[in-house]
Order: sequence, then structure tokens, then C-alpha cells
Amino acid sequence: MKHPTHKAIGVAAYSGLIVFFYKPFSVAFSFILLASSILSYFSSILPDLIEKSKKEHRGYTHSFFWSIVITLISCNLIVPLHIWLKSQGVYFPVIVPIFAVWIGYTSHFIADYFTNKGVCIWWPFDEERKGYKLWEHEDRDGPEFLITIISWVLTIIIWIRHFSFYYL
Ligand SMILES: [Zn+2]
Repeated sequence: MKHPTHKAIGVAAYSGLIVFFYKPFSVAFSFILLASSILSYFSSILPDLIEKSKKEHRGYTHSFFWSIVITLISCNLIVPLHIWLKSQGVYFPVIVPIFAVWIGYTSHFIADYFTNKGVCIWWPFDEERKGYKLWEHEDRDGPEFLITIISWVLTIIIWIRHFSFYYL
């Protein structure tokens, strides 16, 4: 699956879930919710970037285990930043950016799961590649293009709806 598709799915998954779970208590918080989508954008291609050095795609980094490891590593940057912002008078739940990293990363291998190649989703507990084929991995211009467009359109609708609901 191409990186633009992963990015679109990652941001859409984050946007949909965060807007569903959080009711903002300030305009600033709403913008932090929106800004954190940048984290899901970048973490959505991390599984492939980590594996770039290796020849084989979709190894152990495409697993829940690694999505947790990467999220914990990212906390080393997020938590100090959160503490600093709080001291500057900007408060928001720290779980928001952490969730953004996790959902971006996780959406990557879940999306890969639905192509014919499959992923080692339960590594290291199960090293077998698993998947449920919805389309061919090679068919990049058909379903993938459509998924990319739909994901971005959904993301835009989610945020327009969010801001108009609370602030208009
Ligand atoms: Zn991948």
C-alpha cells in the first residue's frame, strides 16, 4: 500500500475517533485536537520507514506489539512537551497526542491486513502472516486511490462539523 493512502487512513481514523470521544472544553483544546492529527499523519508511515533498511516489507513492525513500543517511545517526547505547555498555561489531556501516534501507527498495519499479502499482526506471539483480502496489493490505482480520496473527504467533513457544532 502506498504512503499517501496510509497517511489518509491514519488521519481519518484519528479524526473520527478523537471527535467521537472528546468534547472540547475550549477553542484552544479544539485546535490541539486538530493539530495532533499531524502526529497520526507521520506515525501512519512509521512501520514502513522503520523497515526501510530491510528488504522484506511487512515484518515484525506491522504488529500490535510494535505499535505499543513505538507509542511508549514517543511518550519520551510528548510527556515533557505536555508538561512544558501546561506550565505555559496550555492544558489538554496528554492522552490526545499519545493516541494520535498509536492510532496512526496501528491504522497502517490494519490497512495492510486487508490486502492479499497480510501482516504478522500478533508478532511475537504468532509469526504467521494473517490477512483478509479485500483487494490485491498490486492494484494501487483502483481501490487505493478511492480509499485515499474518501479518507480525506471524511476527515474534512469531521473537522468542519466539529468546529461548526461548537463554535458557530
Ligand atoms: Zn506497510
